[in-house]
Amino acid sequence: MNTLVVNCGSSSLKYQLFDMAHETLVAKGLVERIGSDNATLKHDSLGVGKITIRSGIPNHAVAVHDMFDALTDGEYGVIKDVKEISAIGHRVVHGGEKFHDSALLRGEVVEAIRDCIRFAPLHNPLNLMGIEACQKFSPTVPQVAVFDTAFHQTMPKHVYLYAIPYEYYQKHGVRRYGFHGTSHQFVANRAAEILGRPLASLKMITAHLGNGCSMTAIQDGKSLETSMGLTPLNGLMMGQRSGDIDPALIPYMAEVEKTDAEGVVAILNKKSGLLGVSGVSSDMRDIHKARKEGDERAAMAFQMFCYRVRKYIGTYASSMNGLDVIVFTAGIGENDAAVRETACSNLDYLGVEIDPALNESAEREKIISSDKSRVIVMVVPTNEELMIARETVRLVGGAQEAPRPNKRKH
Ligand code: ADP
Repeated sequence: MNTLVVNCGSSSLKYQLFDMAHETLVAKGLVERIGSDNATLKHDSLGVGKITIRSGIPNHAVAVHDMFDALTDGEYGVIKDVKEISAIGHRVVHGGEKFHDSALLRGEVVEAIRDCIRFAPLHNPLNLMGIEACQKFSPTVPQVAVFDTAFHQTMPKHVYLYAIPYEYYQKHGVRRYGFHGTSHQFVANRAAEILGRPLASLKMITAHLGNGCSMTAIQDGKSLETSMGLTPLNGLMMGQRSGDIDPALIPYMAEVEKTDAEGVVAILNKKSGLLGVSGVSSDMRDIHKARKEGDERAAMAFQMFCYRVRKYIGTYASSMNGLDVIVFTAGIGENDAAVRETACSNLDYLGVEIDPALNESAEREKIISSDKSRVIVMVVPTNEELMIARETVRLVGGAQEAPRPNKRKH
C-alpha cells in the first residue's frame, strides 16, 4: 500500500511516499520558498535518482501539483499514476478538543479543522491548503488528518486547565493542548518495543529536543502532561522560543519596545531561546562552538537549556510518582551527548546515572544509562512521517467506521 505523507509549513511542503507493506520509504521531497519566484523542489526517489527544480511556485496548491508531477515523472518518478497512491496522510498542527484521534477527511472533519484555525492561525490554514489541493488532484484517494495535539487529549482536566477565569475555557477553549504528539507517541512505542515491555507498564518521560522542544509524561501508555500549552511557545527553552516566562513580562516588554502584545509575542517566538540568550545562533551546534571558544552567553544559553530539561524531568517524575524510562529524541535529543549528560546530571535522587561511553556511542537507537541506574535512559530517533503513514493505514483500513470529530462535552 503506497501511502503519501504531506506536511505543509509556512513556505514549505515536505512529502514522503512509503510502501507500507514493508514500512519502507520510496520517495521524499521538499518544496521550499513557496510564494517566491525562486522556489525549489528537491525530489529524491530512493534508489532511482534525485532532482532539484527551481521555478516560481506561487502557492501550496501549485506545490502539491509539482509534488505529484515529480512522483509520477517518467524519468525520476516512482509511480506511473496518482491512482497508485492508496492513501494520503496530512500532518495537522491543531485539532483543538475536537480530535483525540486521527480522522478520515470528510466535509465535517475539514470544517472542524477550519474551526481550530483560531488556535493555530499560522499553521492550520496551510495544512488545510495542502489537504484541499490533494483532494482536488486526487479526489478518489482516501485522506487522513493526523494531529500534533491528539495524543495529549488524554491529559486530565486538572492538568490541562490554566488557573484563569473558567469562562475562558468554556467559551473560548483556552487550555493546555500540547504538540509534537506524533513524535512523543512514536518514540514511546518504540522505546517500549526495544525494552520488550508494554508501554502501559512504564512511567516514561519523552524529551523531543529539536528547534521546537517539548517533554511529555506518559503513564499507563497515555500522555499525562506535556510542556507546550495552548500554543507551542510554552515550556522548555527552544532554538528561538522563550518557553515559560512570567506573563507580566508582556506589558513590560511592550512598553520598553514601544510595541503591542503581538509584537512581544513575536520576540518571544523568534528572537528568544538559545538565540536570544546567546546572541549567537538558535542552532545548538553553533552554541557549542561558541562556548568552547569562551563565549559566556553561549555557555549560559547551554546551561539554561539543560537546566530546564532537568527541571521538567523532576516535575514529571513527581506527577507520575516515579520514573522508569527517559527517552531523548529529535535533532538535539538524538545527537547531542553533552545536552543529554548535563540534563541528566544531579538526578541521583531519582536514580538516574548516564554511562558516558554509551552516551557517546555512534548507535542511533541506544540505552545510555549505566547498569546501576534505576531509570533507563534511551535515545530513540523520531519518525513523525512514518507515524503519520501508520495512522493513515489504520484509519483507511477501518474506513467504514472512521472516527468522527469528538463529541465529548467540556
Ligand atoms: P526541527 O524541530 O526543525 O525538526 P530538528 O529536530 O532537526 O528540528 O533539530 C534541530 C536542532 O538539532 C538544532 O539545534 C541542531 O543544532 C540540532 N542538531 C542537529 N544535528 C546535531 C548534531 N549532530 N549535534 C548536535 N546538535 C544537532
